[in-house]
Amino acid sequence: LLNWYTMRTFPKLVGGLSDFFRSPLSNTRKSQWCQWKRAMHQVELTSVRYPNVKRGPYATVDDNDIKFFERVMEPSRVMTDPDIVDSHNVDWLKMVRGASQVLLRPKSTKEVSEVLKYCNTRRLAVCPQGGKTGLVGGGVPVFDEIIISTSLMDDIIAIDGISGALTCEAGCILEDLDNYAAGHGFMMPLDLGAKGSCHIGGNVSTNAGGIRLIRYGNLHHNVLGVEAVLANGEVVDGLTTIRKDNSGYDISHLFIGSEGTLGFVSKVAIECVKRPKAVNVAYLGLKNFNNVLATFRLARESLGEILSSCEFMDAESVHCVEQNLHLRLPIPKCPFYMLIETNGSNATHDEDKLMTFLDLLMRKKLVIEGTMASEPRHISNLWQTRERITEALLLDGYTYKYDISLPLTYFYQIVEEMRNRVGKYTIRCCGYGHLGDGNLHLNMTSKEFNEQLVHKIEPYLFEYIARKKGSVSAEHGLGFKKRDFIHYSKSPSAIELMRRLKNAFDPNGILNPYKVLPDLPYLFFHQLQVNLQSRQRHPKLLLEAYRRAWSGSSNGIALLQPRGEAIAVNTALEVAPKPEVRWVEVRWGPLPSNIRHDHRGDLPHRHSPEPPKVGEKVEKELQDLEPEVIERIPLVPSRGPIVSGPGPGLGLGLGLGPGLGLGLGLEVAAADLVGGTRQGEVELNGGTAGARRWDAMAGGDSRLDFVASARDHAAHQG
Ligand SMILES: Cc1cc2nc3c(=O)[nH]c(=O)nc-3n(C[C@H](O)[C@H](O)[C@H](O)COP(=O)(O)OP(=O)(O)OC[C@H]3O[C@@H](n4cnc5c(N)ncnc54)[C@H](O)[C@@H]3O)c2cc1C
Repeated sequence: LLNWYTMRTFPKLVGGLSDFFRSPLSNTRKSQWCQWKRAMHQVELTSVRYPNVKRGPYATVDDNDIKFFERVMEPSRVMTDPDIVDSHNVDWLKMVRGASQVLLRPKSTKEVSEVLKYCNTRRLAVCPQGGKTGLVGGGVPVFDEIIISTSLMDDIIAIDGISGALTCEAGCILEDLDNYAAGHGFMMPLDLGAKGSCHIGGNVSTNAGGIRLIRYGNLHHNVLGVEAVLANGEVVDGLTTIRKDNSGYDISHLFIGSEGTLGFVSKVAIECVKRPKAVNVAYLGLKNFNNVLATFRLARESLGEILSSCEFMDAESVHCVEQNLHLRLPIPKCPFYMLIETNGSNATHDEDKLMTFLDLLMRKKLVIEGTMASEPRHISNLWQTRERITEALLLDGYTYKYDISLPLTYFYQIVEEMRNRVGKYTIRCCGYGHLGDGNLHLNMTSKEFNEQLVHKIEPYLFEYIARKKGSVSAEHGLGFKKRDFIHYSKSPSAIELMRRLKNAFDPNGILNPYKVLPDLPYLFFHQLQVNLQSRQRHPKLLLEAYRRAWSGSSNGIALLQPRGEAIAVNTALEVAPKPEVRWVEVRWGPLPSNIRHDHRGDLPHRHSPEPPKVGEKVEKELQDLEPEVIERIPLVPSRGPIVSGPGPGLGLGLGLGPGLGLGLGLEVAAADLVGGTRQGEVELNGGTAGARRWDAMAGGDSRLDFVASARDHAAHQG
């Protein structure tokens, strides 16, 4: 039943990502490099592709700043040559591009500290950068932030021969650390496809997962201590190498996964694991996803403590590697593939266990093809088809990358659903990932960036994830690309607390701005444009207003809810019988943190029995309020779709049942409308009332959400 291919006939596969970046350039590599450089220059500036993201109130670098940096470190490490700086402006996936003009390469914590202290005083924004392999646009600037690279902070300080505690600077490359640890009989607990390029500081800052998390846990488990530099230059020394320390808050752990927004990680202490004496890998081909799940269940049962990795790939992913990188697959084509690895201390014991497991798989007819390796070079070859998928996908053109957590029951369902939904726009839609951790990498590719395709994927995918109680980012972080979707996985109170932490650590917001947290509380508030309201709730009027708001004409009401998903729409001026507030100027302040929302973001006042307040009274009350103004929203018609969620649509359906029927359907995005209407009613008609209720719940300490202040735009301008 099982065709075990002999590893002797296995072809030598070309080098991995690490080789690409690190080996001396051969002619082929040189031409690849030139292609890469050309492609890099074609990446659109982030500020152009995402015009809604506005540059923060930061200073711009001038000659005096450069002179200061050159006093802190050697001038050769203050780089302003556009050719060099540009390559640090573009991310590895070539999806975002900053416009920084300065790259700093400090060599010590002291230098980082002096630079940050100065930047903080001058209000110069900075972007910490490691190996630049991050997949959410976090490690490159959005505008002109100064790039501070860890590439020259690469000293390995020490390793404890008994505990395996390794201390090093943030710029050490993961693979180098692993090689160093190997010399002392240890292994880095973390392993990922980008190991030849990513830095340990970047790993810690993203809380990177990787292929062995199922066995060794994530970095919250392995990192013993961190030294970090705060925005004001203060050095927080948490570089302990002990395992247990309950003396107060664990500050070091705040830096793990904070993606450079709370501090600059300068040194790391990490607990290495004993290097396994026996490693085995089985590469399996399976007929369907149910068999993948059954195999995983059996692997946990049969392999128990030696199971170190359980990865899955669908046919599309693997065939992309074959097609784009010309790698030969270790087994014939199958609908699904799995890589199961064991790490142990006794080769005979592990092999016995693995063979029993494979036997069981064959008897249960769960796999259709397979091969096995226990020799390091063969093992590394088997891993290539998994580890190089990201690289292979990139060669299609543009990758839409989603790294999500889902309960295993829905794990592959979403890949199929998205394939149906976006199939015609994409070159491929595939799924692979760390099955053992419930972490799916869902990827779609197209020749070039296609905004229409993005709208087909988002927020549809995130809504699905929220419904299934998953996470919008399993291991890559939020960076720039996913920050606006944080609310699908975190409650408003958690987000608010994060914001307070950010303010406490970095009051001027100079550390990696535009990353992790949305610009303003929960939403793209500056997309909120057109405001008119009445209490009229006739569905036809709703539809009209919805259409107007959607198309950006000036009379609809569009209001994004705090979860960024729903819309408040009432009616349009011409059709409203009694428009009471002509327009509303909207300002946002954070919601009080003690307000609870359910997973879908229901606001508490939705359930309030109190009728909304309307008319002049509201206007008067609103005028009297003085909320903290975060930004003034210009009341101008929007230029494009300003809301997320489905729009109204017309559908024609043909039904075949006992009889034959032809139906005309009108989709008005009922849920959004209903939710939106109720939301709008309270927030626009009764902005004050809503705010007061929140205020009361927050113990009188809330900042207000809305204020309506003038009769119309012209009067306001006057
Ligand atoms: C082929 C491939 C495979 C990958 N596989 C995995 C995987 O299996 N699991 C996984 O989790 N990720 C994976 N990644 C993503 C990426 O490698 C990780 O996120 C990695 O940890 C990023 O490290 P870096 O040094 O490249 O950081 P960068 O990309 O340079 O930066 C990432 C983020 O960390 C911040 N940062 C970097 N250094 C510091 C510092 N010293 N102090 C403060 N902030 C800092 C940056 O500002 C940015 O927000 C993969 C990427 C590629 C290209």
